[in-house]
Amino acid sequence: MEYLLHVLTEKCTGCMDCVEACPIEDGIRVIPLPILQGRWDIAICRHCNPAPCVEVCEFGALSVSGNGAVILNQSLCTSCKACTAVCPFGAVFLRPDGTMAKCDLCSGSPRCVAACEEGALVYERVERKRALMKEKPSVVELLEFKGLR
Ligand code: SF4
Ligand code: SF4
Repeated sequence: MEYLLHVLTEKCTGCMDCVEACPIEDGIRVIPLPILQGRWDIAICRHCNPAPCVEVCEFGALSVSGNGAVILNQSLCTSCKACTAVCPFGAVFLRPDGTMAKCDLCSGSPRCVAACEEGALVYERVERKRALMKEKPSVVELLEFKGLR
């Protein structure tokens, strides 16, 4: 069964509960939008298929796991930032210590989704997403990106 992680930024209050719940430092970032006061952007991996970051990494540090999560292997990563350059969601981060960070989907049960009481992070079946397609242009975009439309 294919699931999608989806972000509804309009529901985000900037509480940072998702950031605190994430077991990966910089696995998710919540960033204030400079123009829209009180609005936030949530930068988190959508686990694309095919994934531009996996394709661009010359070192084999990014791969797709059995549950469809795009995983970063720190031991192979050279912090070249090629993945950051191609990620359409701004979801691979360079930490201050020079290492790279991204979401690993918490083995298919993302803690950030469970922590968000506002419902700004959603992880659900593709079938439900297809039903939502007419309502949410961003869902259409994500499904197309994952080759699921
Ligand atoms: S890091 Fe970016 S490009 Fe790679 S799978 Fe996640 S969203 Fe897609
Ligand atoms: S899915 Fe898991 S690893 Fe990814 S940001 Fe959410 S809590 Fe962190």
